Amino acid sequence: MSDQKPEPTTTDAGIPVASDEQSLTVGPDGPIVLHDHYLIEQMAMFNRERIPERQPHAKGGGAFGKFEVTHDVSAYTKAALFQPGTKTEMIARFSTVAGERGSPDTWRDPRGFALKFYTSEGNFDMVGNNTPVFFMRDPLKFQHFIRSQKRRAANNLRDHDMQWDFWSLSPESAHQVAWLMGDRGIPKTWRHMNGYSSHTYMWVNATGERFWVKYHFKTDQGIEFLTQDEADQLAGSDGDHHQRDLYDAIEAGDHPSWTLHMQIMPFEDAKTYRFNPFDLTKVWPHADYPLIEVGKMTLDRNVTDYHAQIEQAAFQPNNLVPGTGLSPDKMLLARGFSYADSHRTRLGTNYQQIPVNRPHAPVHSYSKDGAMQMGTATDPVYAPNSYGGPAADPERYPESATWAADGELVRAAYTLRAEDDDWGQAGTMVRDVLDDAARDRLVANVVGHLSDGVSEQVLARALEYWRNIDQSVGDRIAEGVNG
Ligand code: NDP
Repeated sequence: MSDQKPEPTTTDAGIPVASDEQSLTVGPDGPIVLHDHYLIEQMAMFNRERIPERQPHAKGGGAFGKFEVTHDVSAYTKAALFQPGTKTEMIARFSTVAGERGSPDTWRDPRGFALKFYTSEGNFDMVGNNTPVFFMRDPLKFQHFIRSQKRRAANNLRDHDMQWDFWSLSPESAHQVAWLMGDRGIPKTWRHMNGYSSHTYMWVNATGERFWVKYHFKTDQGIEFLTQDEADQLAGSDGDHHQRDLYDAIEAGDHPSWTLHMQIMPFEDAKTYRFNPFDLTKVWPHADYPLIEVGKMTLDRNVTDYHAQIEQAAFQPNNLVPGTGLSPDKMLLARGFSYADSHRTRLGTNYQQIPVNRPHAPVHSYSKDGAMQMGTATDPVYAPNSYGGPAADPERYPESATWAADGELVRAAYTLRAEDDDWGQAGTMVRDVLDDAARDRLVANVVGHLSDGVSEQVLARALEYWRNIDQSVGDRIAEGVNG
């Protein structure tokens, strides 16, 4: 506590006010008056404090930090952010997918792992998850998937029948569902989970050579999880367990870190790889594309205003700096549109001017005006022009993260390759990656989930789904559910 007199309270226009506690009234017992501007401003601002929550990924938290490159990957990318020794300021936000803003952190769900790097060449974002795969491979199904995980129309309740109905009618979800029902479906804390780009992206080096890449941020705290029982108890006793853990750890000087590794596939390999390497429901086996270490991300600074710095943080996978790019992953290409679109509707047209989203690199764009414009446009307001306005420099910054595409316009699944199937990698995980105890917990988790309000027809299809992943695990789940 300071002995100094505090600053005088002011209105939002900076005008000192006469009282923090008393409204202006006609005599001490009389009515309040409408021209008490300070009272009206307080009430009006309060009524407008909440902004729409994210749809999905509404519940989350995060912190600021830095990313430091420790290994030389300049052979694969020219991005300034990834050059040896470079240190970049960044912010991370972790979240659950389906729950609302006040929902418990410990519900079983994938966790969002969104990063924004304020690089010298503009903002670079990775909007990843704590899982290396996703539930689907075509963006037309995404909206339906999220609705199936949220609430029913009539009773406004979450509903396991709806979840398993969608999953069992969408066999491509098997790998992610198997992952979700295992230990990693409920991380102990955000500090104890990995972050994956999941999507395949592109890197381009200084000579224009292209590579397909996947990002793996591996936790330096080690992977730890909560059992279903532990998570259920915490959901009742401390719904903000993950938020609290991250904040308290950083306040105590215990700064969590993640080591970035890449999987790197030579550009030409993608054409002949045994399955479609852009299919978001599959990982690239480590044996084929081993992890290559790049650097370390450390979170060392808590936000000071959750609303301004986390609720208004806007991550978008199309924030790609020179030397990085997209891939033909249909989900990724659609997310390039949908994230920026959601920020425009939730935060406003000029959301990139909100301090947490503002690049540290200079901005020389021709965007102007719009609601809540914070900058001042200068002439000329068009390009090309003869008056010294910004001009693109294709020699320095060519459009290099590209690939060839041709064909009729169709609505079709990816062309199948020899090892494109929905069950294989999910089966490998439950059989070969999980040990006996982890497999037992997975079976128990699925039995518990399926025993809670799932209709007969959906249950039958869900059991078939699990037998397709692994016959023996499916049989054990059937036994558990049918008693
Ligand atoms: P590996 O044996 O090389 O890799 C298995 C990986 O599985 C581990 O490196 C670890 O990933 C992850 N893992 C370990 N325990 C669990 C668990 N309880 N739940 C979920 N994942 C776990 O084999 P492959 O690369 O050939 O992959 C085999 C299977 O492993 C895949 O089908 C996939 O299901 C799973 N997997 C693969 C990843 C990949 O990128 N190749 C990444 C994660 C899972 P990590 O080191 O990232 O923690």
